[in-house]
Amino acid sequence: MATEFLEAQIAELKDKGLYNTIRVLESAVDAQVTIGGKHYLNFTSNNYLGLANHPRLKAAAKHAIDLYGIGPAAVRTIAGTTQLHEVLEHKLAQFKRVEATLTLQGGFLANLATIPALVGDSDVIFSDELNHASIIDGCRLSKASVVRYAHNDPADLREKIRAATYQRGLIISDGVFSMDGDIARLPELVEVAREFHLMLMVDDAHGEGVLGEGGRGIVDHFGLHGQVDVEIGTMSKAFGVVGGVVAGKQRVIDWLKQRARPLLFSSAMTIPDVAACSEAVTLLEESDELVKRLWQNADYLKEHLHDAGFDLGTTQTPIVPVIVGEAQTAQAFSRALFEDGIFVMPIFYPTVPHGKARLRIMNSAVHQQEHLDRALERIIAIGKQLNVVA
Ligand SMILES: *Cc1c(COP(=O)(O)O)cnc(C)c1O
Repeated sequence: MATEFLEAQIAELKDKGLYNTIRVLESAVDAQVTIGGKHYLNFTSNNYLGLANHPRLKAAAKHAIDLYGIGPAAVRTIAGTTQLHEVLEHKLAQFKRVEATLTLQGGFLANLATIPALVGDSDVIFSDELNHASIIDGCRLSKASVVRYAHNDPADLREKIRAATYQRGLIISDGVFSMDGDIARLPELVEVAREFHLMLMVDDAHGEGVLGEGGRGIVDHFGLHGQVDVEIGTMSKAFGVVGGVVAGKQRVIDWLKQRARPLLFSSAMTIPDVAACSEAVTLLEESDELVKRLWQNADYLKEHLHDAGFDLGTTQTPIVPVIVGEAQTAQAFSRALFEDGIFVMPIFYPTVPHGKARLRIMNSAVHQQEHLDRALERIIAIGKQLNVVA
């Protein structure tokens, strides 16, 4: 068998403690989850607002199935699209205060759809060195040359732009960097884009539903409406469902409908997903209560972990990295917490650099005070046992 070499590769990963095992959940994703018949406090999901198991989203999905069925049954450009998809895109445009949006099956695909539609082989992309894998892959597919600039460093970006020759150029950055929780310096990126007449795109997957007024995202957070060419978003995180979104000027969306390959050659989001996402937008339009609770919970956790002496890196958002150093330490930390009923994933190379392994504690609006306190107590106790803190 020609795949034998994979056994050696897998064995090597296991030896180095870099082998990842996927846990199986026997419950809905919520503040608590069931794994192997036991209950765990869940600090791993991107379910920021607790919408993944929200009664209103579930009801909307069920109702839509009765009216429209389940699947789109072909790509939109060939078989047409449901009213539901159009309504969602319209609501998202209003929510995000942009001219138009386009939904795709996920945020990953939104990047693969958008980047190659904007730039090609005589163009250049200036990409933050810590950008998400889906941006990196979207850049590769575009055939444009890619220049990486130092993380969140507009001065380095300027230098790299001055040194480059190109026809058209595109600056791309994550909005919130998912492993560190820091926020892109978007106002400065806007200035640079304007100065050099470059397109600017931000992938706000971890800012959607988290940053800005009522979760409207990073552009709203900085008050930069109309000054960022393309916003990529996901409905797979704070929105609690699955799906990707591209937001921007009408002409950008019109062009994507002609050229975006994941739109032209892959079927649309399913009916229940679209209906649930639509209800999520309605919920966020009605109230910012969940967004506020998310931030309160995150601030509480960060304050106490910081006081206990943990290295939380550069986070500015509800993503809380607890940096421990070696992959083995992060794994031992996670295992010990799991034995105590707390589910927190260790993150290590290649997701973060060697020596920067961490626990990544994901907060949500639906964690109760007692959940936070129980997690804090165990994290601090185990952190001491493992000599992560004194
Ligand atoms: C999670 C994430 C994605 C992928 O989103 P999906 O909807 O899960 O496909 C894309 N970009 C960034 C920056 C992300 O963090």
